[in-house]
Amino acid sequence: MSDPVADAVRRALNGMDYADRQYEYQMTVAATKLAESVQELHRPLVNSKSALYPAPLCSCGKVFPCDTARRVYPSEELNQYV
Ligand SMILES: [Zn+2]
Repeated sequence: MSDPVADAVRRALNGMDYADRQYEYQMTVAATKLAESVQELHRPLVNSKSALYPAPLCSCGKVFPCDTARRVYPSEELNQYV
């Protein structure tokens, strides 16, 4: 399982001499806010599945999860769609 927010914070902290817990928390909040703003543009559309199209559509018009959604949702959330 991967979480894009946690992965981004871990990459940002990599190589730093220290990882102050408050700083790490602030980075996590910022990365979460960014991920949420992108998730608003790439969310599964309710009632878009059918017998012909078993995967839901993304609000961008592609099949969910689209490439962008794969970068901003935790794998745990994506696994319910793939
Ligand atoms: Zn999308």
